This record gives sequence, structure tokens and C-alpha cells, in this order.
Amino acid sequence: MKITFLGTGTSQGIPVIGSEHPVCLSNDFKDKRLRVSVLVEWDGYAYVIDCGPDFRQQMLRAGCTKIDGIVFTHEHSDHVAGLDDVRPFYFRQGDIKIYAHERVIASLSKRFDYIFNTEDKYPGVPTLSVNVIENKPFILKNLAVVPINGLHHQLQVFGFRFKDFAYLTDMKTVDDEEIKKIKNIKVLVINALRIEPHISHFNLAEALEFIKKVNPKTAYITHISHLMGFHEAVQERLPDGVFLAYDNLQLTI
Ligand SMILES: [Zn+2]
Repeated sequence: MKITFLGTGTSQGIPVIGSEHPVCLSNDFKDKRLRVSVLVEWDGYAYVIDCGPDFRQQMLRAGCTKIDGIVFTHEHSDHVAGLDDVRPFYFRQGDIKIYAHERVIASLSKRFDYIFNTEDKYPGVPTLSVNVIENKPFILKNLAVVPINGLHHQLQVFGFRFKDFAYLTDMKTVDDEEIKKIKNIKVLVINALRIEPHISHFNLAEALEFIKKVNPKTAYITHISHLMGFHEAVQERLPDGVFLAYDNLQLTI
């Protein structure tokens, strides 16, 4: 299985427009973060988790020319705003499969009503094949993917386990029952926004606590704000086996 971090930044990305914060002005490529998303590939299949406003740029940058579907964690803009840019995939492949909680589907159908509208469709508008997921395993090709339920402040969000890989973002609360689903994994990706606490995201200390509970072989932190600090300086302070993710990082599991 190959994992490509398409984006590792929080909702505004890094640099933030107009910001003169030192991290936003950094020349280190690891301090430049598009909105959070990941590409998961195995046996010639390719799935994207979330489809934020940088989706087009991310697909071009990763050289991704075919996707088998998009799996959504939740409906916030930084995770869904790029959906219109599935058009080139739709033109090449036909209907694009999406997988999401029914509340997320309802939100997408409001936001992108012209895509979900089945009557008098404007030519060039993509067509989606919608798959509602609940908190139980669902099948992507030859793999059973396990959702992990959590809360982003009060909003339900899904993380996902793909074999030995689990990807959880925008989490603030995850019940112990859900954590059991990601025991014995090799690679955990988990969100941490910054050093200071936040109402709807883990901060770094909470993410490290979560990693301890899950006890994966290695863990990568994503959905990072410029307020976390410089990539290199934060990385130096992390425990063994814990890494800040960065854009374009690839893992083979
Ligand atoms: Zn987010």
C-alpha cells in the first residue's frame, strides 16, 4: 500500500494569505502545506480521502490520472470544496464514486446542487455515484475499510482504517471503543493543529496522548497550523516513531 500526503495543512493552508508569521514566510518546503488530504493506493487502485480546495493542484502534483473514488471524513469546506474538480476524472472514467456519511451527502448536495441535480444537467457537470457509509466496514475493491467514529467539537467525523494504515483527521474526541478498531496498526495518521488547545482539534499534547493509547509502529501528524511552529523545530521535540507529516511525503506500508 502506498500513501501520499497530498496536503497536511489546516483550513487556511500554510502560508496563510497576507500573513507575516515566520512560519508562513519560511523557505523550508516542509513548511508549505496545502489543505489536508491523502491518496491511498494498493493493487493498482487509488482512493483520495477528502477533496478540499487544493484538490486540482494536488492531483497534478501527485501525477494522479485515475481515481477509484473519494472517501469523505466530514463536510467542512477544507475537506470538500474541490469536488467540482473531479471533472477531468469524470470525462475520462465516467461516474465518480464517493463515500460519505448521509449527513455529509446531504451537505454536498446543497453545496453542489448542480452536480446532484439529475434534471436538465448542464453538459460538463460531473456525475457522482453516491455511497452512504455508516459506522461499519465497507468494501473498496478487495479491501474492507473500517470507519472510526469521532467528534470534531460536536460534529461527527469518520476516520478510516485501511489494513495496517489508519487516517484520522479533525478529531477532538474518540471513544475507547473506537480506538480498539485501530489497535495493532503499523501507521497512524492523526491531526494536531498547534501547541495551544483548540475547541475542535487535538493540540500537539492531545495527539501525542492519543498516539500513546493506539500504540502504532509509527505515527504521522497532519492538519497542521502555522501556529504549530517550524516543521524542523517541532520534529526535533517529538518522541521516537512520531513524525510531522509534510506535503508530498510518501509511505509504503
Ligand atoms: Zn479540517
